[in-house]
Amino acid sequence: MAFEGLADRLQNTIQRIKGKGKVTEQDVKEMTREVRLALLEADVNFKVVKDFVARVKERAIGQEVMESLTPGQQVIKVVKEELTALMGGEQSKIAVADRPPTIIMMVGLQGAGKTTTTGKLANLLRKKYNRNPMLVAADVYRPAAINQLETLGKQLSMPVFSLGTDRDPVDIANQAIEKAKADHNDYVIIDTAGRLHVDGDLMQELKQIKTDVAPDEIFLVVDAMTGQDAVNVAESFNEQLELTGVILTKLDGDTRGGAALSIKAVTEKPIKFAGMGEKLDELEVFHPERMASRILG
Ligand code: GDP
Repeated sequence: MAFEGLADRLQNTIQRIKGKGKVTEQDVKEMTREVRLALLEADVNFKVVKDFVARVKERAIGQEVMESLTPGQQVIKVVKEELTALMGGEQSKIAVADRPPTIIMMVGLQGAGKTTTTGKLANLLRKKYNRNPMLVAADVYRPAAINQLETLGKQLSMPVFSLGTDRDPVDIANQAIEKAKADHNDYVIIDTAGRLHVDGDLMQELKQIKTDVAPDEIFLVVDAMTGQDAVNVAESFNEQLELTGVILTKLDGDTRGGAALSIKAVTEKPIKFAGMGEKLDELEVFHPERMASRILG
């Protein structure tokens, strides 16, 4: 499970301050030093750590703690609130178009889990929100991706729109949307092409699709295991496409969790969902507060 190391270290640190009837500036300094090290070790972006620690320190030696009857616990409350804010604060909602279908564009590098997550998201939309999605195979460079999506569609008993590999993805997307309207599918989830690295041609193609179909959501699927790289990838996709949200995958692995803690701060885009395994029902709505509680114990 992600965040294990971070959770261990932070829980140790806060345990020590928790019972204190009086919290001195020295206590706060020691605690924030530990918090800083724990976050850096968890691979959280350096600048994000610096700002985070500064905010915690300012609040922890401020009035709200000093005047509290239980200062030790108050400090922990501050850490928890700031950790929650770091991951986005409120849980974010998924868009609903005024006139259906709501169009979701899935983007990301190859191997991040984009195709699998397209299936998982469709499953979640049906189960949790009672929606009736259509999947669209617009990754025309990788025939295997089309087959993979069709297999997922079969498992889910959901329609998959595909025109094979020799068509323009923009055409595919447009035709899929028409079909979804006719068939009363209220969500259209477009699985776009990935590459091994961020590249200009790919971005051009994605921008073209975006301009043409005007999606309600553009979700970047990123592999949480890639740590700082996930943050860099998110930054470049966001610059080019103005994402509406991020889906972190593989949070079930022994990732150190840094990506989850840096992406919102760096891109200003919320993490909307988290992949917790390979199975189709292993996608969760991302709750910053619950995640912060999980980390702080
Ligand atoms: P794509 O190239 O981005 O479309 O990636 P795929 O959807 O083909 O996924 C790549 C691999 O990651 C597959 O083996 C998936 O089963 C796996 N995968 C995707 N999401 C998760 C996740 O949340 N947890 C785990 N453990 N594996 C995942």
